[in-house]
Amino acid sequence: MACELAGDHYLDRPSTCRNCGDGFVFTAQQQREAYEVRKAYIWQQRVLCAPCWQQRVHLVGELKRIRSRWARERASVKRDPQALRQWRDVLAQLPRYGLREDRAQRAMVDRLWATAARIEV
Ligand SMILES: [Zn+2]
Repeated sequence: MACELAGDHYLDRPSTCRNCGDGFVFTAQQQREAYEVRKAYIWQQRVLCAPCWQQRVHLVGELKRIRSRWARERASVKRDPQALRQWRDVLAQLPRYGLREDRAQRAMVDRLWATAARIEV
């Protein structure tokens, strides 16, 4: 559906959640908030219902946290199968929430996790 702008007004846009299939409305107020306050791209369509959007925000935050830990203490993450498994889970879930799958990163984390899990045993 094209972005519906009528002068200064945003119109409520009914949609179907890409993740869970629930119907939801991307309200005029939410659009204003997204486009004018958070400066999202105007052509960015909301494709997720509110709970799935919250989950997406949560997952993106988790990924950021894990990756910043990875940047700071690579050696300790490599020996931490739990952290690596969590990293894998987050990466596996993200594509369902409208984010591009990062195959290279997934392959790297898979390898690290396999190695760490072996050491653990
Ligand atoms: Zn949903």
